Amino acid sequence: MKFAMRRNVLSSLLCGAVLASLSLAAPLAHASKDHPEIGFCIDDLRVERWSRDRDYFVAAAEKLGAKVSVQSADASEERQISQIENLISRGVDVIVIVPFNSKTLGNVVAEARKAGIKVVSYDRLILDADIDAYISFDNEKVGEMQAQGVYDVRPKGNYFLLGGAPTDNNAKMLRQGQLKVLQPAIDKGDIKVVGQQWVPEWSASTALRIMEDALTANNNKIDAVVASNDGTAGGAIQALAAQGLAGKVPISGQDADLAAVKRVAAGTQTMTVYKPLKLIAGEAAKLSVALAKGEKPAFNAQYDNGKKKVDTVLLQPTKLTKANLDTVVKDGFYTQEQLASK
Ligand code: BGC
Repeated sequence: MKFAMRRNVLSSLLCGAVLASLSLAAPLAHASKDHPEIGFCIDDLRVERWSRDRDYFVAAAEKLGAKVSVQSADASEERQISQIENLISRGVDVIVIVPFNSKTLGNVVAEARKAGIKVVSYDRLILDADIDAYISFDNEKVGEMQAQGVYDVRPKGNYFLLGGAPTDNNAKMLRQGQLKVLQPAIDKGDIKVVGQQWVPEWSASTALRIMEDALTANNNKIDAVVASNDGTAGGAIQALAAQGLAGKVPISGQDADLAAVKRVAAGTQTMTVYKPLKLIAGEAAKLSVALAKGEKPAFNAQYDNGKKKVDTVLLQPTKLTKANLDTVVKDGFYTQEQLASK
């Protein structure tokens, strides 16, 4: 009896101690402002460019005293939402998101904001959500460069428009930019758009299949392809090559993926768009740390995401053709050895 009572007293004392330490811990849920905690939720780290974004971002944020936890949703909407929820319950200071689906994060962003966490939309704009900031390269400009690059080589003929993922707001902005360049020639009848398709998840293998079908449907009479990134361009070029058309049909891209830069050098891809990832990742790290510290970062644009006008850092892309391909070496994006490798 006595023993049981003693045990009760002991356990309630212990309980008290645990509770006291918990209540002490509660106000510390957000890290110190000098060492903020940042969650970086990336749609899909299996795609070449995003692993570089990750490396540059982590390095820049750590230099600024922050700690970064990186998540990859591997192109799953549900996984991305649960990863964000997990970061909210861990009490990070800032969540930086490359959304898989631009349209479905409104609720989880609201949860984060309620918990006092800042939310930054990285490269792709999160729609209908109360986000704190957006940082990206000018996607409409990227689209203009893609269309212009192809148009300069083939100002007349049958065009195929290979769009990005329908879940990615960038895909639409790219298309707007592409049409800004092509529409006058379409209206004049110089250019005939013989087909256009979005590529779910920006998948290269789906792009290959779409291009094969388009070539068959048009008896190979496709004169130009406006592809929205290098991954999908790679798939399409494989389909063109199978018909002996690689290098004859101008085709665009973006990202300056290593394989794409080599294709531009070899002449099977007309152009790509170089977006210095060190720049966007470094600026995003600065922006995130400033938000964590309650400082007002510098913005140079605003984008309406359906919910609000979002303060934006907008960066400028560079059009890359055979003529200025050495930009990527001069800028340290690749070494000469990487470009020469098989
Ligand atoms: C990015 C591109 C990228 C694509 C596929 C887009 O939102 O802006 O750089 O190639 O997603 O990951």
